[in-house]
Amino acid sequence: MNCPFCETQDSKVVDSRYVQDGIRRRRECLMCSLRFTTYEKIHTQLLSVIKRDNTKEAFSIEKLTKSISTACKKRPISLEKIEKVVVDIESNLLQNYGSEIKSSLIGQLVLNELMDLDKVSYIRFSSVYRNFEDENSFVNEIDKIKNEGSIVDKKQMELFPNDKKQTKRNGVNVNGSNKQN
Ligand SMILES: [Zn+2]
Repeated sequence: MNCPFCETQDSKVVDSRYVQDGIRRRRECLMCSLRFTTYEKIHTQLLSVIKRDNTKEAFSIEKLTKSISTACKKRPISLEKIEKVVVDIESNLLQNYGSEIKSSLIGQLVLNELMDLDKVSYIRFSSVYRNFEDENSFVNEIDKIKNEGSIVDKKQMELFPNDKKQTKRNGVNVNGSNKQN
């Protein structure tokens, strides 16, 4: 994207905003420092998501936004920030991956973003994303964050939905290996 003032190719994005069927970016030229706006049309209609059960569905920006907002509920995260995460993920998908994307990849990209943004939202999303299929990996995630030295407030943890299922550390005993010689 060339600067319209000095033709320099290098610019940095200072703001991204999701607008109807496109992304509006505010850029700053690295040479002359003037700012200009670009508009990129989104072709996400062309993106398909391959789900866990191998069924395919059209990529939905609304669905992605909704799942992230749910994870960020009651957290001090502005709508703009969520929007930015969505835009970043979407452009990443468009630029670096093919037209068919595994849902697990999208989940991973969301996790990467939330890790930086907010730890509580990260854990929440992680629990939904992994669908509690593997409780140990869920506990591992929490341990990972604790070990990082981040303070995860107990009260915040209680905001978890579906907390009926206790997450026991060694609750799952997958020991079918009775050795018989
Ligand atoms: Zn310039």
